[in-house]
Amino acid sequence: MKAILCSKWNTRYNNYDVRQQMLKNISSGEHNRDTTFIERALGKRVSDVQVAQKVHRMELPREVLIGSNILPLVGPALKKLGFASTAVTFTGSITRKVAAEPVADSMRENGIGTTFELVGGSSTEDLTLAQDAIREIRPEVALAVGGGRVIDITKLASFNENIPFISIPTTASHDGIASPWASIKGLEKPFSIRAQAPLAIIADIAKINEAPYRFTESGCGDIISKYTAVRDWRLVHKLRDEYYGDYAANLALMSAKLIMKNTDIIRRNNEEGVQIVLEALISCGVAMSIAGSSRPCSGSEHLFSHALDIAASRPALHGEQCGVGTIMMAYLYGADWKMIRDSLKALGAPTNAKELQTEPEFIIQALTQAHLIRRERFTILGENGLSRDAAEKLARATGVIE
Ligand SMILES: [Zn+2]
Repeated sequence: MKAILCSKWNTRYNNYDVRQQMLKNISSGEHNRDTTFIERALGKRVSDVQVAQKVHRMELPREVLIGSNILPLVGPALKKLGFASTAVTFTGSITRKVAAEPVADSMRENGIGTTFELVGGSSTEDLTLAQDAIREIRPEVALAVGGGRVIDITKLASFNENIPFISIPTTASHDGIASPWASIKGLEKPFSIRAQAPLAIIADIAKINEAPYRFTESGCGDIISKYTAVRDWRLVHKLRDEYYGDYAANLALMSAKLIMKNTDIIRRNNEEGVQIVLEALISCGVAMSIAGSSRPCSGSEHLFSHALDIAASRPALHGEQCGVGTIMMAYLYGADWKMIRDSLKALGAPTNAKELQTEPEFIIQALTQAHLIRRERFTILGENGLSRDAAEKLARATGVIE
């Protein structure tokens, strides 16, 4: 067994000057296009192949299992998917014992051997180590048993090494458990990049319910953020004729509404609530797969969260920041921002800087820099973003800062 070393992200980004420089670098970054798949298939750069830009690709999971105490079903599920010999299981040091080992038992009983690889962080170094492990072991499939960083690393490493991956989440903290996008720290782009959708998702509600409630509440913030992400998507469709898919948009919105309708059940922190959140997260992942883009699930509120990751010395959880971003972006849209705030409050999720444990100054900085994170992603923030005064007024009007 080889241990994957801890992320250098914290040491790198705890330095204020480095974070500021990174924001400047982002502003001059080039456009991000989902071209990897097409380039691989055609063996050419997409810029050389005009027709490739017309391809709309949907990549969906083949098997989704959600239930209580279902880890023994992993082996049979893998067999059904055609895997018969070797797998590699990426996991965390805590999740190994509670979830990855039962998964390995189930695989062994079904004649599939596996090796454990521990993921320490979600940096480019962790990614390299994971890819090295796949090259060395040569498994048929990679399993991600863990939270966000384990899933992100496994997703991108397996994609880069051309093998499928199975998502076995142990928290319900964000929609990456089901989407084709991976967020890796240390890449030049501080937002998710396209990798591959999981071939299967096997979510054990009982295990996820054992994780701290904060993860579930963060997952809810990520889902509620679709409220403004879809508005941004519709806006750019009208203003710039960018592709828009009504089905994917409605699927994402429906998930957000479902969470806001069921705050009481979710707050009880039991398996019933976890199931609602999980199904909504998976629907969001599927919405992105159908859209062929993260547009239905990621708009101005996500740009704010990414900018806050860089501006703040100690960022909060992704979904928590997106939730607070959604309150402010809903205000800009003249939408019912109080309903968003009240839903987050009812879930026990942060609704202001204090609860995010960050400084008002970082909120203002993130608001003024958010539009620079990815220039091709046009949102309500416009091309020039918010002025400092406008950012401060917005944050005060919504109670995010006092
Ligand atoms: Zn998200």
